[in-house]
Formats: sequence, C-alpha cells, structure tokens
Amino acid sequence: RAKATARGTCAVFDDTMTVETGNVREIESDLRLALARGELVLAYQPQLDVAEGRVTTVEALVRWKHPRRGLLPPHEFIPVAESTGLIHALSSWVITEACRQIRIWRDAGLDVRVGVNVSTIDAQQDNVLTTLDAAMERHGISGSNLEVEITETLLLEPGGEAAKALFDGLRARGVHVAIDDFGTGYSALSYLKDLPCEKLKIDRVFIKDMRDIKSRVLVEAIVGLGRNLGKIVVAEGVETPDQYHALKDVGCDMLQGFLFARPEPADRLPALLGEIAEAVRSGYAGPENRP
Ligand code: C2E
Ligand code: MG
Ligand code: MG
Ligand code: MG
Repeated sequence: RAKATARGTCAVFDDTMTVETGNVREIESDLRLALARGELVLAYQPQLDVAEGRVTTVEALVRWKHPRRGLLPPHEFIPVAESTGLIHALSSWVITEACRQIRIWRDAGLDVRVGVNVSTIDAQQDNVLTTLDAAMERHGISGSNLEVEITETLLLEPGGEAAKALFDGLRARGVHVAIDDFGTGYSALSYLKDLPCEKLKIDRVFIKDMRDIKSRVLVEAIVGLGRNLGKIVVAEGVETPDQYHALKDVGCDMLQGFLFARPEPADRLPALLGEIAEAVRSGYAGPENRP
C-alpha cells in the first residue's frame, strides 16, 4: 500500500499504519482543528537502562483526544497527517510539547531524556530543526535532553541529502538520533557504519519469539553489531520476564515494553519510575511477577 507520489509529497502507508475509520478529508479537517484546539496529548513510555537499573529515557507517543471518537492511537491519524502535509504542524506540536514537559520534570528534579518520533516526511523541510531551536530556547533546555527517533526508511527515500541535513542538524545541537524499528527497513547494513546516530531500536518483531533459537541468534547479532559500532542498542516490545532476561544476557543496553510500562500520561511518570526501579531490583524473576 506504500504510495510514492511526486517527490516531496510521498505518502507513507505501511502495515502498522492504516486508517481504519473515517475518511481522509474528514480526518484532515478534524486534525487541523485538533491542533488548534489542543486535542493532542503525549503519552510517555519508559526505557530501562540495564546497566544503571533505572529509567533514563522516555519515548513520547502522540494520542488524539477526539471529541467524538475517544482516545485515538497514532495509526488512526499519522498517515493522514503525512499525506496532507499536516505532519509538519503535528511534529512541531510534539517537539514543543515534549520540551515543555522536560522543563516541568526538570523543575521537579526528574532527569530523563525524552525521545520524540518524527516522520520521514519531516526531513523534507527544516521544520524539525527550527522548531527545536525555538522550543529549547523557550523552555531553557539543551539538546542533550532530547532524542529524535527516525525510521531507517528515511535513509532509503529519494532525497537522502535532506535526511543528512536533518541528521547533521540534530548532531550539531547535541540531540541524540535513534533509528526506530531497526531491522524492518530492508536496507543494506553497510549504511550503518557511516550513520550519525547514537541509538538503534530493534523492532519488536525480533523480540517477539526470542525463545526460538534462530530469533535469539538474530537479536544477539544485531546487539553485537550495534554495540561494536558504538551505538546504544534498545529492544522494543519487551513483554515478558523471559524476554527481559534473554535481552540482558545478550547485552542489550536498554529495554522498552509493556513489561515495564505502557505509554502513560506525564503525571504518572514519577511514580512509574519508582515502581520500575523496584521491579528491577526484584529481578522480574518470580512467577508472581509474570504479567
Ligand atoms: P514506535 O515509535 O515504534 O512506537 C512504539 C509503539 O509500540 C507504540 O505504539 C507503543 O505503544 C507500542 N509498544 C510499546 N511497547 C510495546 C509492547 O511491549 N508490546 C506491543 N505490542 N507494543 C508496544 P503507538 O503509541 O500506537 O505508536 C505507533 C507508532 O506511531 C509509533 O511506533 C510511531 O511510528 C508512530 N508515532 C507515535 N507517536 C508519534 C509522533 O508523535 N509523531 C510521529 N510522526 N509518529 C508517531
Ligand atoms: Mg518510536
Ligand atoms: Mg519503534
Ligand atoms: Mg514502530
């Protein structure tokens, strides 16, 4: 279903992003209003730093508090935002809101890095960088408080120069770059060695059946490759204590998934971080801890 139109207006509809209800025009006009009315919210999902035994980063994930349809997940509206160009305004909102929240947490003594997702379409304009500059200035935070998640498909799109400008701009600002859904982009591994990114996030499809020896070997290889290239390697979609232990064993640096926490509203974060640190101390071992 991927639909590449004229360069600069590339619409991305993949398997994880389908518009299940409503039509594009209606969602577009509703979304335009939603941005103006403040109906978007960010949920935050912790990432556990295995060596430190605590959460050092959280990923910001957008939701839409739709007046009629309830809380909508991103796959209900991100594809429309991408195909209509609204993604630029949406990404600006996400970045600015994340910076606002970082300020609030820092003032409360909570020091976490926040990762935001940007779309491949975002690389076609300098919107991300200009928004970042304004938001960091306005909320008095530095680039090291932030991370930007980009899928590896960005590197395959026509207009790789635009992607490079984004990567360079982020690096110049001290913002970490994470490659999201790593391993699902069908890209050659050779690009990895020159890629200016700090982090690789292994897609959850690889984590799913780590009890299977072949899957485990694959994850172990990706972790080894990433770490030997100096990257921080994160596993997405960690749901069970078995996966947790297997990922620790293969040397994965950071873990994210429902085992630790679902994406939660910002005000839940302080309590959540305490709960996770406690669960880590107890080792996620006993059957009593199994979800
Ligand atoms: P992603 O960036 O790969 O985010 C991870 C997704 O996996 C999230 O879904 C999260 O809720 C889900 N997840 C986390 N842990 C687990 C787990 O243990 N098991 C399972 N089954 N799922 C888990 P969500 O929030 O629905 O987001 C879906 C996608 O929408 C994101 O994938 C990202 O590509 C996109 N997205 C989310 N927020 C934004 C945003 O602000 N801007 C843009 N451009 N895209 C966004
Ligand atoms: Mg992500
Ligand atoms: Mg991901
Ligand atoms: Mg994903």
